[in-house]
Formats: sequence, structure tokens, C-alpha cells
Amino acid sequence: MTLAGLMMGRPLLVAPLLRYAADYHGDTTIVTRSVEGPLHRTNYADTHARVQKLAHALIALGIKPGDRVATLAWNTWRHLELYYAVAGIGAVCHTVNPRLPVVQMAYVLSHAGSRVLFFDTTFLPLAVGLKAAVPTLEKVVALCDAANLPAEAKGMLTYEELIAPQPETYEWPEFNENTAASLCYTSGTTGIPKGVLYSHRALVLHSYGMISAVRMNVEDIVLPVVPMFHVNAWGIPYAAPLMGAAQVYAGRAMDGPSLFSLMDEEGVTCALGVPTIWMGLLAHMKTMGRKPKALRRVVIGGAAVPEAMVRAFELDFDVDVHHGWGMTETTPMGVINTLKPKYKSLPRAAQIDIKMKQGRAIFGVDMRIVDEKGAVLPHDGVSAGLLQVRGPWVIKSYFKEEASPLTEDGWFSTADIATLDGDGYLHITDRAKDIIKSGGEWISSLDLENAAMGHPDIALAAVIGAEHPRWLERPLLICVPKGDVRPTLEQIHAYLIQKVPKWWLPDAVEYVASLPIGPTGKVQKTTLREQYRAYKFAS
Ligand code: AMP
Repeated sequence: MTLAGLMMGRPLLVAPLLRYAADYHGDTTIVTRSVEGPLHRTNYADTHARVQKLAHALIALGIKPGDRVATLAWNTWRHLELYYAVAGIGAVCHTVNPRLPVVQMAYVLSHAGSRVLFFDTTFLPLAVGLKAAVPTLEKVVALCDAANLPAEAKGMLTYEELIAPQPETYEWPEFNENTAASLCYTSGTTGIPKGVLYSHRALVLHSYGMISAVRMNVEDIVLPVVPMFHVNAWGIPYAAPLMGAAQVYAGRAMDGPSLFSLMDEEGVTCALGVPTIWMGLLAHMKTMGRKPKALRRVVIGGAAVPEAMVRAFELDFDVDVHHGWGMTETTPMGVINTLKPKYKSLPRAAQIDIKMKQGRAIFGVDMRIVDEKGAVLPHDGVSAGLLQVRGPWVIKSYFKEEASPLTEDGWFSTADIATLDGDGYLHITDRAKDIIKSGGEWISSLDLENAAMGHPDIALAAVIGAEHPRWLERPLLICVPKGDVRPTLEQIHAYLIQKVPKWWLPDAVEYVASLPIGPTGKVQKTTLREQYRAYKFAS
């Protein structure tokens, strides 16, 4: 028989993260490039005061525990305030991705039953349309003050007017830590979006995991380039206050030059985002011939990082790259790549090979790979199988869905194909549906794309399986060229043969002006497969 521990069972809740930062790091800054353009500066103490005003305002609007309050907003201090006030009163902050097709936005708002929508003025027409289309939506509030309310929105309630009359102190209620705090829908690229409902407990534990994963410390100035409408900006808005780290938000300006100047002027030390964002920043760093002055490390995830990107950051600009893997369903951080001490003495090139892997699990996330029959495969770095995970910040059920997404023994199947090596490094070879099945063998589209993106004349590459009379599927390489040069298939082969097995070499290359990018900044292979459905390889 076990013996019960005798420690306090204080609940792990989100609001105390911010209260802690206000008490112990009150003058630490939060800087935003506002939607209107100028920089906005605040700190944890003032933010906590405004969050308490907002809590009162939400209650005055009739928001009750469990209600869903939606946002259609960029990365700003007001969005941060909403994260905390909504969750703090026991309601649920439903972040809507403005890049979703409008019908899907209306669908997720209705499915969630969200009652109020806070929107950045850039989304005014959208917000008006959604209010008309979604029956549960009672009110829309513009995230600005009266002076910045667009003329066509005259008479609409603004955020600043909403909170202005409210008192600055509010006693945060205590409730069960398994209460829902925020809601994010999957990006819908593989069907109807599904709701992932994060609990306070999951978000707080994930914050501890996150600070250790990105080695955040009190001296850091952190910029989550990843949007706050996608998986809580990877949990940074919760994790940074826990550490007392300063935060910088880019608003809507995510292009390379804007990011560069913001990072440079604000002394950003650590930034996090998907590869497509870093392409813009890197191009601008090359133009400037330097990095933003204080930038020490970048965390890149959400899609596989191209080797050329790691090399550019590490070798040209002396910025540490940490590759990471996660999903909406895993809050999202699952693994992060840090070099084990035994690899520190390796030559830089060999270190970069290791850094290309997605990384090792952070404490709390268990991982295994299984074959098609569900048998667990060895962690030998070679056996590839379906990745399954479990842990306190991994989904148990989708919102309002009865069918369990878990295996009988309680694991969540990710739909990613991966290997795990003896050190625990995870290497994602593909999404299950993207892998190319050539004559019964598997070709990793991710590895092939990555290799192609190392070619000096190729900016962006995607590989899909196209129908083949003999092999069932063969790789088709679709590229965006860097300039006017378009290497021939033979030239591409001559380059790739140094990097991948001969039988992986693509059967054809097609050049396009751009690749379809989805609502979370990733290349949309489903769209490409649709476009090239009838593709015929030249015989
Ligand atoms: P989402 O839920 O939209 O964030 O997408 C999660 C999916 O993105 C994962 O299941 C992976 O397929 C993909 N993904 C995330 N991080 C990585 C990574 N570092 N390398 C390759 N794929 C990734």
C-alpha cells in the first residue's frame, strides 16, 4: 500500500503566473509593435493591473466560468491580457486563426459556442461578417481605443473603453486545475478543424517544460514570432512570466526587415517560429551582413527545418538553432534539440547533422514508435514507424467529440512517421500521408526536400509522390527558384546524389513561382497533391 504525501494540493492555475511576474518582475518590459504601427511599452506590473480590470469587464459583460471568449488578433499586449483575464475568471480563451477560410472561422466559433469576439481592427470586416453568421456570438469588441477605431466601425465597443471604468484589483478565484483555460482548433488541413481544449494544469506544467526546453532565463528578451492564434504562441505568453523574462511581440509585421529592426532595437535574445518566417529574416540578415545585435538562439519548429537554414544561422551569424517538434494536440512542445555533452567536441558540421533531428523529449512527454500492426519498434535510429506520445499536456479528447483519439493503452497517435535513436533523438521522416511509397519502400519527402533546399539555386522545395505505372509512386520535386537559374533534372540529380540514396532521386522537377502556404505557415502538401493529381512522368 502506498502512503499519501502530506503536501498542499494547491491547484496549478494560469493567473498566478502573471501575478508572480507582477510581484517579482514588475518592471520587466513587454514591448509590442502595435497594429497601428508605433511601439507600445508596458511591464508585468501594469499588465497585471489591466488584466484585473479586464476580468471585471468580462464579468460585467456577463461572461461566466466555462464560457468561451474568442479572439481574432495578432501578437500584442492586449491579446496577452485576454489570455490571462479570460482564463483567470474560469472562462476559456478561444483563439481563432484569421488565416483559416471564413467558413471554417464561422464553423469553429459556432462549434465552440463563443459568446464574445475581441478583434484587431485589421479584421473589422471579418468580425462584422462573423457576428452576422454565428448565432452564439453576442458581441464583438475592437482591440483599440476610441481614437483608433476605424470610421466605418463608429459606435462599436472598444477594448479600452470597456476596461477603463473597472477597478485595478480583482481576487483571482481558485478552482480545479483541470478546468479549461484556452481552446485552439487544429489547422483543418486534414479535414474539419477539431478543438483542443487546454487545461490550466497542462498550461502551467507545459510552461515549466518550455522554460527548460528553450533554456529561458530572467535575462532573456523573448520574441514569439509564432502567432498567438496558433497553440498559444507555443506557450511563451505563460512561460515567460514564470521566468520573469521580458517579452517582445511583433504585432502583424512578420516580414524580415520589420522583424530584424524590432529584434535589433529591443535586444531580443531568443526568438521562436516556423521555418517560413525565418527565411524572410535570414534574407534580411544577409542583406545587412549581420544578425540582430543580441540574438543568441532561435527555436524552429512546426515544420522540418532545412539544413541550409541551420547552417546560415549557426555558421554565418553565430546564432544557436534549436529544432523542436510539437502539435496543437501537445500544447505544443514535445521535443527540443539540444546537443548532449558528448557531442560538444564534435566538429561543427557533425553537430549540425545532429541538430537537424527534431530533438529529445522534454520531461513529461513519453514517446514510442510503432509499426502498422501497433507493435513497438526499437529505438535504433533506423526503424521508422508511427510516432505516439502521452503526457500531462497531451490531448485526451477533442472538444465535443465522443470518439477517443487514443490507443487502447492510452497513447495519442500523431500521424507522423519517425525514428528514435539510442540517445532518444527523434527524427521525423514524414507525415504518414506524405511519405512516398515507391515499390514497397519508403522515401522520406522531408529529407528529400531538405536536401534540395541546400542547392544554391533553389529557395523552397516540396516533394510529393506522383503516380507511377511501375513503382506505384515516385517523387516529384516542386521548386521555387532563387533567381533566374532553373537547374535541369540532371543537375539536380548530380547535387542530390551526394546526400540521398540513388533510388530516392526525384523522377521530375517542376518550377513554380510560389508554394501554397497554409494558415499556420506551413507548405500545404494536400493542395499540391490536388494540383498534380493527374501528373504524368515523361517516359
Ligand atoms: P500543428 O498541429 O498544425 O502545429 O501541426 C503539427 C504537425 O506539424 C506535426 O504533427 C508534424 O507533422 C509537423 N511538425 C511540427 N514540428 C515539426 C518539425 N520540427 N519537423 C517536422 N514536422 C513538424
